[in-house]
Amino acid sequence: MIFNEGTRGFRAYTTKHLDDLLREKAGFGEEARLRVRAVATVLPFRTNAYVVDELIDWSAVPDDPIYRLVFPQEDMLPEADVSRLANLIRTNAPVKQLTAAANEVRMGLNPHPAGQLDLNVPKIGDEPVPGMQHKYPETVLFFPKQGQTCHAYCTYCFRWAQFIGEPDLKFASGDVDALVGYIRRHPEVTSVLFTGGDPMIMGEAVLRRYVEPLLDLPQIDSIRIGTKSLAYWPGRFVTDPDADDTLKLFEQVVRSGKNLAFMAHFSHPRELEPQAVGSAVRRILDTGATVRTQAPLIRTINDDAATWAHMWRRQNAMGMVPYYMFVERDTGPQDYFAVPLADAYETFRDAYAQVSGLCRTVRGPSMSATPGKVCVDGVTEINGQRVFVLHFIQARDPELVGRPFFARYDPTAVWLTDLRPAFADRFPFEPAAPVAA
Ligand SMILES: *Cc1c(COP(=O)(O)O)cnc(C)c1O
Repeated sequence: MIFNEGTRGFRAYTTKHLDDLLREKAGFGEEARLRVRAVATVLPFRTNAYVVDELIDWSAVPDDPIYRLVFPQEDMLPEADVSRLANLIRTNAPVKQLTAAANEVRMGLNPHPAGQLDLNVPKIGDEPVPGMQHKYPETVLFFPKQGQTCHAYCTYCFRWAQFIGEPDLKFASGDVDALVGYIRRHPEVTSVLFTGGDPMIMGEAVLRRYVEPLLDLPQIDSIRIGTKSLAYWPGRFVTDPDADDTLKLFEQVVRSGKNLAFMAHFSHPRELEPQAVGSAVRRILDTGATVRTQAPLIRTINDDAATWAHMWRRQNAMGMVPYYMFVERDTGPQDYFAVPLADAYETFRDAYAQVSGLCRTVRGPSMSATPGKVCVDGVTEINGQRVFVLHFIQARDPELVGRPFFARYDPTAVWLTDLRPAFADRFPFEPAAPVAA
C-alpha cells in the first residue's frame, strides 16, 4: 500500500487501513498490531493522509502526542477485554461474535455522558425537534445530518458513540426549517452553534443550506461552527475545490451583521505548525470571521502547562482568541485520559501565568456537565478545611451563573459527580432534600 500520494486532496484512512499503517509507518509487529485492532473494534478510528504525513512524528511513536490523539492504543481498554477481542480476530471468529463482544465492552464505557441521547430535545408544541439541543437560554446547538463525521477522530472524543454506526445512537437533523421555526418561537436565542461531528466536513453547498436561512433572523447575533478542520484538514480553506465559496459564505454571514464565530479545536501546538494552517487561519480572518480556540486537557497528550502556554501564544500570534480549556468528559477510555481536577487547575494556572493578557481570554479548566459548565477556580483553605472553589460559566438555570460555590478537596476527583459539597449539604444545582418527617 502506498500512503504518500501527496496531501493536496483529502484522503481518509479507516479501520481497514489500520494494520497497514501500523506496519509501514509505526513498524509494529504482528501481536502489537492485533491488539490495536482489537481496541479499534470498540472505539472508532478514522484519520487522513495529512494527519499521518504532516502531524505525527512517527520516530516518536507510540509516545507521540498526535499519534495518541488519533490512533487507538492497546492500554485504552482493560487488558482482559483486549486479549479476548484480539483472540477473536486471530481465530477469524464470525463477525457477529466479534461485534457482540465489542458492543459489550463499549457499553461499559458510559457511551452517553450527561444524557447526550435525549438531552433537552426541544419541542415545538408537542413535536420534538430532532438534531437540536437547547441547554442554555441564549444558545441552540444544531447537529446537521451531513456533518456527523470528522476529517479524523480524536481518541478522547466524548461523542465517540455517534461514530460507531448504531442508528439509535445518532441524533442529527436535515431539517433547517424546524430550526428556524424553533428559533422564531424562542426570542431568547441569540446564538446558533453548528456542531457534530464536524460541520466543516460538509461541502459549501450543503453548509449554505443550513446557514443562509439564519441570516434573515434579526434575533441571531452569532453563528458558530465547532470544528477541528483547521487542525486535521486545513486544505478545507485553502486547496479544496470549494474553499473559496466557503469563505464567501463566511463573508456573507459577516455582511449580514452577524458574527461568524469559528470555534477551532486545537489539542496540541504541533497542529498549528504546518504552513497550510497559517494560510487557512489568515483566509478565514480575512472574511471578517472570528476564530476562538478550545480543547480538553488530556493525559499523555497535552497535560503540561508549557504545552498550553505555547499553544495559546501561537494562537494569539496567528490572530486566534483562546477560549476554553475543558476537562475530559466521563466517557470512553476516561481512565486512560482523565486528569484529576486538582492537577487540571494547577496546569491551567501555570499556563495562564505564562501568557500575556491577550491570551487570558481563556477560561478553565471547565467541565461541561449536566447542570452546566463548571469552572475550577482554585484550591484554598477556609476555616481549616481544604476546598475547591468553583463557579458556573454557563448553567441551565441562569441564576447559578457566576456565583462561587465550594466542594471538599479531593485530589483524586476527575469529574463533577466525584465532588461533595463543602459548607453545605448540597450543591446549588441540586434540588433541596425533602424535609424529614
Ligand atoms: C459550551 C457549551 C455551549 C456554549 O457555551 P458558551 O459559554 O456560550 O460558549 C453550548 N452548549 C453546550 C452544551 C455547551 O457545553
